[in-house]
Amino acid sequence: MRYETQPTASHFVNGAYLEDTEGELIEVVYPATGEVIARVHAGTPAVIEAAVSSAHAAQKEWEALSGTERGRVLRRAADIMRERNRALSELETYDTGKPMSETLYVDATSAADALEYFGGLAGSLTGEHVQLGGDWGYTVREALGVCVGIGAWNYPTQISCWKGAPALACGNAMIFKPSETTPLCALKVAEILIEAGLPAGVFNVVQGLGAVGAALVSDPRVAKVSLTGSVPTGRKVYAAAAEGMKHVTMELGGKSPLIIFDDADLENAVGGAILGNFYSSGQVCSNGTRVFVQKGIKEAFLTRLAERLATAKIGDPMDESVNFGPMVSKAQREIVKGYIAKGKDEGARLVCGGQEIEGNGFYIEPTVFADVDDDMTIAREEIFGPVMAVLDFEDEDEVVARANDTEFGLSAGVFTSDLTRGHRVIGKMEAGSCFLNSYNDAPVELPFGGSKMSGVGRENAKGAIEHYSQVKSVYVRMGDVESPF
Ligand code: NAD
Repeated sequence: MRYETQPTASHFVNGAYLEDTEGELIEVVYPATGEVIARVHAGTPAVIEAAVSSAHAAQKEWEALSGTERGRVLRRAADIMRERNRALSELETYDTGKPMSETLYVDATSAADALEYFGGLAGSLTGEHVQLGGDWGYTVREALGVCVGIGAWNYPTQISCWKGAPALACGNAMIFKPSETTPLCALKVAEILIEAGLPAGVFNVVQGLGAVGAALVSDPRVAKVSLTGSVPTGRKVYAAAAEGMKHVTMELGGKSPLIIFDDADLENAVGGAILGNFYSSGQVCSNGTRVFVQKGIKEAFLTRLAERLATAKIGDPMDESVNFGPMVSKAQREIVKGYIAKGKDEGARLVCGGQEIEGNGFYIEPTVFADVDDDMTIAREEIFGPVMAVLDFEDEDEVVARANDTEFGLSAGVFTSDLTRGHRVIGKMEAGSCFLNSYNDAPVELPFGGSKMSGVGRENAKGAIEHYSQVKSVYVRMGDVESPF
């Protein structure tokens, strides 16, 4: 099967597609060609109201099902998703520009993993029994209610399920607002969930720019907000959620260190640095964009890196042999070009890349800067594009201090053949998601998220349940109350 890029309607509310052409027009552009491939409308107040009220109405009945019943729906959805992997991957490629060589293996697959994992966990959600002398107590794990998920544009299918799966497993309803840049994929997730037996209203998709997200966050019927986005947006959403004392999960940006010691397997370390900087054309929040290379191997590292980058196949993302696609949008490419210019101005050495690629697509070459100082803009700010900054270091204490000298704390990677050192250094990293002799692996079984400015809370793994549920505690007295008078 193939999915049309133009969806049936802009939104998916109360179990069905919903349109309101009064909403601001959003053109969906295929990043590889610059062509408009779909048009959707932002949610109007009427659409937002329909989504929140249907989620609110549907949530209690959904929560009243047993966890096993809820889990069965999620696992069925995972099966459908895997069966449609190719169609979903193509749509992901149209939405984001990421090559099929990635989307076929990562996006719907990771989304299905989340549905399967949390579907499996749903039946095991229990409270606790507590013995209190002759009395006793127990806890009940309850849903939060209506949750809002707000997505970034780099992994639209995955993000909708990393948020939707644990939310639904716990008995919540969700309204998901995709990024305005990639509005297509989440609609298919909603369709599949309904096909799998999800009651209408439990998972809704509303399109729109930041204002729609803000309206959803401030609705008093919304109990929780989970955002994947930049730090500035995170600040706004967190502040708005605080007004209503809402629960939050914040998956924000990063400027993560990737440390390569001179005893590392060089070939593997070069591979890790490529994976951690150029996968999805560098549009990955956890990327290790500050590559610290120990002085003795710096030149060998740069030589091998340049050789391997020269073999990148840049081109039509639908061609499955292509492994490097365009940036998601022209605007994002302009931002990246600005950072490349800053890198040159501030004195970093351009090793390779740096040019946009002629044509209508939003391509830019994989770019490497060496001789980067800690205080250069390209070493401090998140670029969110294919730009690697290589810094060199002498010893372990120095590199630990420099790696942690950032406001972000999303990820960190270490390459070394000395595993004692590897674990020691990872132990000192101020980062939520770390990698040893690897980079950017994010299985659903491991928590994912950041510390410092990179976020609050974690997605995935059993711990995500804590972020989508709350406990009620009940004290049970076996005798009479001890009244003071
Ligand atoms: P962004 O912050 O511009 O937008 C993210 C989402 O927030 C969009 O859906 C946007 O419409 C919405 N939004 C904007 N203003 C809002 C407001 N005031 N209220 C509610 N919603 C609002 O981010 P982006 O450019 O789409 O994505 C790139 C950023 O996302 C990068 O910083 C990247 O590091 C981060 N990211 C983080 C993770 C993670 O898991 N930590 C994953 C992917 C991307």
